[in-house]
Order: sequence, then structure tokens, then C-alpha cells
Amino acid sequence: MAQEMMTAGVLTGPQRVEIRQIPVPPVTPGMLKIRVSACGVCGSDIHLWKAGKGWNAEPVADFHMGHEFCGVVADPGDSDFQPGERVTFWANLYCGHCDMCRSGREHLCREVNGTQYIGFVCNGGYAEYFVGRARNAYRLPDSVSDIAAGLIDPLMVAYHAVRRSGLKLHDKVLVVGSGIIAQLVGGLARRAGASCLAMSRIDDRQLEKAREIGDFTHYLDGNAPDRAARMQELSSGGFDVVFEAVGSADALATCLDGVRPGGEIVLIGNSMTPVIPFALNRAVLHEVRLTGSVSCTRAEFAETIDLIASGTIDVTRYVTDILPLPQLQQAFEKQISPTGNVLKTIIRP
Ligand SMILES: [Zn+2]
Ligand SMILES: [Zn+2]
Repeated sequence: MAQEMMTAGVLTGPQRVEIRQIPVPPVTPGMLKIRVSACGVCGSDIHLWKAGKGWNAEPVADFHMGHEFCGVVADPGDSDFQPGERVTFWANLYCGHCDMCRSGREHLCREVNGTQYIGFVCNGGYAEYFVGRARNAYRLPDSVSDIAAGLIDPLMVAYHAVRRSGLKLHDKVLVVGSGIIAQLVGGLARRAGASCLAMSRIDDRQLEKAREIGDFTHYLDGNAPDRAARMQELSSGGFDVVFEAVGSADALATCLDGVRPGGEIVLIGNSMTPVIPFALNRAVLHEVRLTGSVSCTRAEFAETIDLIASGTIDVTRYVTDILPLPQLQQAFEKQISPTGNVLKTIIRP
């Protein structure tokens, strides 16, 4: 029998994706095959695209990224899914038996260690078909569109971060960053009861979209020399909860400038350099709580789908670009372009 082939956006080198015909992977025990309907472009895809390689230790044939996708079951394998069902995948390749997994913290799985994700160490959703672990698949309700499903991954990050925080009704909240995670954190913080909700950003690329969605009450210039005074004045003495959604020394410094004594900084952004300096005494002497936040728990992944299904947040409002798979390279180029104004791109294979 002739090998079944599919179109995929293969990462062939630094800043280079090529559309190629590659073999469709076989469905082995425990696996499920879907016809991909949509796949969101993530900031972490851009990091891999720039590097020209995945995080896999062993070479992966025809490596293609994509971890924010959904599709229709084409071959359920030995799972209890049915052909034609719409599903999405949680990218976290948790082991299921370590102490973290056994206590419901699969996102902290010792085998995952922040790297074992679909589309990072193995092939992902930038292809016509995806074959992956059935236990990572989740049914999609009809009320979650294919486009909306492309935002489950960033929404889960925002959802987990807001739940990790001590945010209470009427708290003053600052979000440092203007990308998709920052904006979704703002959207959920608003719904969780933030009164004053400010965004600190260093460029205006994503401002228009944020204003159109309208959850933030104030926009601050993170480059302003007097930013600390401005933030303290706006919040009458500092923000109760600050979310860092950039992953840089300057963004963390902005957080420390904005937080109130005894307040909390939730760290979401991944730093591209392994060590970043920060004003330790500001945190110590003001008893600032620093809370790390990554991905979400397995239970929260299902809850994230429900947040969209229930209409709690309309994530499709954050989408700026919908492109076909052959334009994957252009989608990445536009994402890093200073004039691109991209907030979220969805690829339709
Ligand atoms: Zn992502
Ligand atoms: Zn584990």
C-alpha cells in the first residue's frame, strides 16, 4: 500500500519554514489521529523558528511545530473517541506516575520539566494530520469554534496565573506586557473582580486591540522615566497584584516599581536568558510575594475549555490574523515585524 502523504510546515533552519509533503505518521497503540482544523501561532514557536530547531534531543524527521491546535478524529486507534469527533490536545507530555502527576500537578511533572511538550520535542499541529497520545485529547463542545480552540493554550496560561494569584474583588491589578498572554490575563482579572486594571507596555503595537476589547482601565508607558511615580499615583500607593507577562529584567523592574508593600507579583514570562538581575531588597523589605506560574493543571485545562464554552470570555476577539498553512513562514515574519500589529494568528491547515 502506498504511503499516505500530507502537507506540513517543516522547520528547516533558522527563520525558515518550508511547506513539504511528508508521510502521515502511523497510529500506534494509545495514539489518535486527527485532521487538523486550526493551530494557533505561539510566541514560543517564534523562539524555535528563530533557532531553527526544536527542543528534542533525538532528531525528529520533518520536524514541525504547533501546540495550540484542534481537529476532527480521523482514526481513534484503540481509544474511546469516535471518528468525526472534534478534539483539542493538551501539549503537556506528562508521565502520569511521578509524585507531581499523582498529586494532580501534571504541569509540574518531573519528566516534563518545562520542555516535554507536543510541537517542541515531537511533531505538532502545523500539518494536515496530527497523531498523538489519546490521553492528551479532549472533546470540544460545539460552542467552542475551531478558531477559539486555537486560543485554549494561551487562555490556560492566563487562567492558571490568575487562579495562582491572591486576586480578590476590587483589587488593583497591573499587567506588565501587551501580548496575547498579558491581554488574556487582563480579561480574566477583570472577570475575577479587578477594579483598577492597568497595562504597562513598551510599544503601541497591540494597544488598538486592547482598547477595542476594552477590559483595561488604564494604559501606562513602561519606558517613561517616571513610571514608578505614575504607577504609584494611579494605584494610590501600589497595585495589589502585578502580573509579569514578558520575561525580562526591565519588565520585572516595572513590576517592583508598581507593586504595593505586601503585594504580589505573578511571574508568567519566560526569560530568554537563564539569569536576570532584579532589586532583591525591594522584594524583601516590602514583603513582596513572588509567585511563579507555568501552564496549568490537567483539571484547569478542561476548565479552560469550559470558560470558552460557557461564554465567560470570547477569545475570538483577540484574533488578528487567520492564514492558510502555506503562509506559515509569512505568519512568523509578520509576528516579529515592528509594523505587524499581530496579537494572535491562527493557521488553518
Ligand atoms: Zn503556546
Ligand atoms: Zn509526571
